[in-house]
Amino acid sequence: MHKTAFVWDDRYLDYSFPGDHPFKSLRESMTKKILEERGAFHYIDLVKPDIIPEEMLYKVHSKEYVEFVKKKSEEGRGYLDDGDTPAFKGIFESALVRVSGTVTAVKLLDNYDHTINIGGGFHHAKYTSASGFCVFNDVALGIKIAEDKFNRIALVDIDGHHGDGTQLLLANDPKVLKISLHMYHKGFFPGSGDVDEIGEGDAKGLTMNIPLPPGTADDMYLYAFNQVVVPKLNEFKPELIVILNGGDSHFTDPLVELKLSNKGYLDVIRTLHKLAHDFNAKIVMTGGGGYNYESTAKIWALSIAELANLDFTDFLELEDCCYLASSGFVKKRVVEIVEKLKKIHGL
Ligand SMILES: [Zn+2]
Ligand SMILES: [Zn+2]
Repeated sequence: MHKTAFVWDDRYLDYSFPGDHPFKSLRESMTKKILEERGAFHYIDLVKPDIIPEEMLYKVHSKEYVEFVKKKSEEGRGYLDDGDTPAFKGIFESALVRVSGTVTAVKLLDNYDHTINIGGGFHHAKYTSASGFCVFNDVALGIKIAEDKFNRIALVDIDGHHGDGTQLLLANDPKVLKISLHMYHKGFFPGSGDVDEIGEGDAKGLTMNIPLPPGTADDMYLYAFNQVVVPKLNEFKPELIVILNGGDSHFTDPLVELKLSNKGYLDVIRTLHKLAHDFNAKIVMTGGGGYNYESTAKIWALSIAELANLDFTDFLELEDCCYLASSGFVKKRVVEIVEKLKKIHGL
């Protein structure tokens, strides 16, 4: 009922930006260590990714861009975008291993209920460019591959940043409901993700953005989630739910000013897990951002335990007993946003 696979390759650790860059693969190694120490791999199968042929990337990226990444990877210097995503020697190969992990997670759904690739979640990568530490958009590619077997796929992106690359790549895809909850504020990366971005053509209405003000804590995050995300999912009835579990909505994150606690994260994952079983849907969960490495590892370990039906809640209660509260100003703002979304999406 909760047959779970965890996709892992030690080469994931190579995708880590040097110097004082905030994106470090330490999060991934810490998560795996927690799972090992708690005996989770007695219940969860560890699976190594099958490396995809380069040409598969052309489903979501231009050939020119793929060649550009290869060239910069050989040179090992400069940037793959305007200055957020530096090239290092071997970045092409290490990005390819991580994308392959998400494709493998999708393919494993033939034999598993829930599959996990914490090495994935690169939702900012665009058709012709890297962006926001993301080289190849494994999320959009994984979903494209999943479309061979699933007709209704819901992506729920709880990373603290808007999933702009994925939204763009799948904007007119009527098989995919794209939901992103993120911080939205003047000058905050990537700048998109307002309520009025709802998708195009046949897929109009299948993009739902929940732009949250800085300071949004558990109470109002869960309010928005339960008021608009859950009804939208109930209406769409996905056969597959892809969860992009970025750890940077956590209150300790240094780059994002949302205030989810571990308890808040677990509530979101638990609700999605329950809905998946109600719909008889499968789940793929990827990683994402997360710049407090310890918090991110803990969030991921708790989320994975939830999917595999393991009880890690003792681990939660030690340091994280209570929901966090939003200010009166934030409460008012989130209620307004939720009302707008209900109107736009007819909920
Ligand atoms: Zn389950
Ligand atoms: Zn993020």
